[in-house]
Amino acid sequence: MPKLVCVKCRVIMKVKKNGVGFLEYTETGPYKLTASDKWECPKCSFEILAGFAEEGLHSTNGNFDRLIIYHIDNNTLVREATDVNSNSK
Ligand SMILES: [Zn+2]
Repeated sequence: MPKLVCVKCRVIMKVKKNGVGFLEYTETGPYKLTASDKWECPKCSFEILAGFAEEGLHSTNGNFDRLIIYHIDNNTLVREATDVNSNSK
């Protein structure tokens, strides 16, 4: 387990939920879904995703849409923001 610390609160963050899907986009739409863990600061409730799986599931995989729906139904899907400057990637 990695150790993650909220700098603002100076406390160790806790895993809030395992198996959270992070959906990344290209200009043409969603292209990769990767499992991760959601961590939370117990003091200020700041949340991050960490502990990503080595391999993501690409949109060419036959289970891609089904898995996205699964995450939506379980409220475990985080979609990458697409309105940020591409230079920040
Ligand atoms: Zn905090």
